Amino acid sequence: MHAATLPILMNVAVAALFAVSYLSISIVYPQHKAFLWFAASFGAAMLTPIAQLAQAYTGWTLLFGPVIYLAFATCLLLMVPALASFYRRPIPWRTVAVLAGATLFSGLLVQLVERGTPVYVVLYLLPFMLSTAICVLVVLRDSPRQPRDLLIAGMFGLLFLHLPLKAVLALREHTGPHQPNYMDSAFAVVSQIGTGTLMVATGLLLLINAILAVIGETRAEAETDLLSGVLNRRGFEARAARVLSQDRRAGWMAALLLIDIDHFKRVNDTYGHAAGDRAIRWFAQLLEHTMPQSAVIGRLGGEEFAVLLDRTTRETAWLQAEAIRQATVSHGEGEVASMTVSIGVADVRAGEVLHAAQERADAALYAAKRAGRNQVCLAPEEAGNVVPLRRAGDY
Ligand code: GH3
Ligand code: MG
Ligand code: MG
Repeated sequence: MHAATLPILMNVAVAALFAVSYLSISIVYPQHKAFLWFAASFGAAMLTPIAQLAQAYTGWTLLFGPVIYLAFATCLLLMVPALASFYRRPIPWRTVAVLAGATLFSGLLVQLVERGTPVYVVLYLLPFMLSTAICVLVVLRDSPRQPRDLLIAGMFGLLFLHLPLKAVLALREHTGPHQPNYMDSAFAVVSQIGTGTLMVATGLLLLINAILAVIGETRAEAETDLLSGVLNRRGFEARAARVLSQDRRAGWMAALLLIDIDHFKRVNDTYGHAAGDRAIRWFAQLLEHTMPQSAVIGRLGGEEFAVLLDRTTRETAWLQAEAIRQATVSHGEGEVASMTVSIGVADVRAGEVLHAAQERADAALYAAKRAGRNQVCLAPEEAGNVVPLRRAGDY
C-alpha cells in the first residue's frame, strides 16, 4: 500500500460525510438552496481523492489527471454560489462563469507545459487560488461580518495561502500529484493531511453556521404569531425576559401594557370572523407603528396584546397607552365601523419578574373594563385600588 493511501481514503470519507450532511439538511430545508450548493461542492471534493487513488493504482494519468484537477476546481468554484446563497445575496454568476472559463483555460494550457516546472505549478494552482480568493471576498461582501463570518473568511484565506505553500514544497521535493513517486513521498502525506484538515475545518465551520442559521429561523417562526406577525405569547415572554434582565443590569425602568379589544365578540358577530381577523392584523400594525422601536410587542392570544416598554416610567407608559387608545378610536379598521381598546398599565419593579408585573397590569385592565371600557388604567405604585386616570369621555 502506498504511504499516502490512508490519508487520501480519510479525505474521501470526510468529504462524503459533509456532502451527505448538507444533503440531509437541504432535504429538510429545501428553501435553503445554499445547503444543496455546499453538498455539491463537497461531492465534487470527494472525487479528487477518489481519482488520486484510482490514478495511483491504475496508472491512467491521462484519464484521472484531469479528473483530479477538475474535481478540486469544481469544489472550490461551487463554494462561491454556496456562500452567496448562504448569506441570501444574489449569486455572482458572471464571476462564477469567468472563474469556470479561467479554470478550463488554465487546465488546457497546463497540458502544454512541462510537468514539475514552476510555470506548470503556477498554472495548475491559479484557478484554485482565484476561487478561494473570491470566496473570501464573497464572505466579506455578503455576510453581516459577525466574528463567525470573519472566521469563515479566515478559513478560506488559509485555504488560499496553503496552495502556494504546497507549490513551493512540491517544487523543492520534485514531486506533485502526477509524478510516479508522489504516492510514496512524504510530501504527499503532509499535503493530503494539510489540505484535508483545512477542508474539515472549513466544512465544520460552515456546517455549524448553517445549523445555527436554521435553529435561529425555526425559533423565530415558533415565536411569531401567524395571524398578526408580532410575537406570540412564548416569543413575547422570552424577549421580554431578555430585555428586563438587560434593563435590570443597567438600572433602567420598564413598564408593561396589557391591551384587550373591547367587545370583540360583537365585531365577529357583526362583520364575520374574517373581518375580525383583519381587525386583529390591523391593530398589531397600529401597535408596531405607534410604539417605539425598542418596544416588545406580542399577541398573547385572541384579541389580547402586550407591550413591554423599556427605559420607561409608568407615567410615560400611560401616555403611550393613551396614544394607542386614541389611535384605535380615531382610525378604526376600514370595514369594522368602530373599535375601542381597554389597557392596563403597570411598571416593572426593580428585581421583579415579568409575571408579577403582568398580574398587576391584568388587574388594571380588568378595572378599565369594569369602569366602562375604552380607557387606560394604571396599576398603583404600591398595593391599593386601581383608578382610571382619565375617563374615555375626556377626549
Ligand atoms: P370584552 O370587552 O370584555 O373584552 O369583550 P370581548 O367580546 O372582546 O371578550 P371575550 O373574551 O368574551 O371574546 C373575545 C372574542 O375574541 C371571542 C372570540 O370569538 C374572538 N377571537 C379570539 N381569537 C380570535 C381570532 O383569532 N380571530 C377572530 N376573528 N376572533 C377571535
Ligand atoms: Mg375583548
Ligand atoms: Mg379578551
